[in-house]
Amino acid sequence: VQVRDALVGARTHASLAERSALVIGAGGLGGPALLSLAASGVGKLWVCDFDVVESSNLNRQPLFGEGDIGSRKALTAVSRLRAVAPGVRVEPVDRRFDGASAAELIQLAGVIIDGSDNFPTKFLVADAAFAAGRPLVHGGLLRYTAQILTVVPGEGPCLRCLFEAPPPAGEIPTCAAAGVLGALAGLAGGLMAAEALRLLGGERASYLGSLLIYDAREALARQVIIRRRPDCAGCSRPALEATA
Ligand SMILES: [Zn+2]
Repeated sequence: VQVRDALVGARTHASLAERSALVIGAGGLGGPALLSLAASGVGKLWVCDFDVVESSNLNRQPLFGEGDIGSRKALTAVSRLRAVAPGVRVEPVDRRFDGASAAELIQLAGVIIDGSDNFPTKFLVADAAFAAGRPLVHGGLLRYTAQILTVVPGEGPCLRCLFEAPPPAGEIPTCAAAGVLGALAGLAGGLMAAEALRLLGGERASYLGSLLIYDAREALARQVIIRRRPDCAGCSRPALEATA
């Protein structure tokens, strides 16, 4: 499967139909990513979200409209995606991605897209994906800035090579508290989907060991090379052996 096939419509559907992706969070990043993956014909999508739709979500979460306020995000997202792409199998996971569910959920799909909105969940996703050998497209949003990093176990750095651990609670505000530019979420979610399509197609990942930082105020993108830290608690061999 070549990702350039994604440019020519119908041919994509045959090649991606056997692939699957798990998207954690159906919000500002996960929503646009899910729409792109469904429209591209990825065979099976899992939508993990435990939350309900709120009016403050609607500036950046295109799976939901005013009539959905109060509904379960995972269920509403799935019905919307099934309408967009009836040929794609889409399944809801209407529960929190937490320590109890992580190992089981991460096994569901070939690629993991992290569109969650808090650091503890992001680290939980990253550690579970690494342990299971699943490629991960990590994304983050805050106000006018988006970041994307891809982690492929055994190939390059992990999330903990970049950020050793989650920041102390309250040090960095969440999207919900600090706000986020709605249009930026759509851009970042679309880029995460494009990266997932590259991974599913066996193409070279664009953000593997290369953190994309996009600043929407300056309209500037840069990519920062991230190196493996030899003593990283996430991916160094002694650490893995110690937890085995
Ligand atoms: Zn690491």
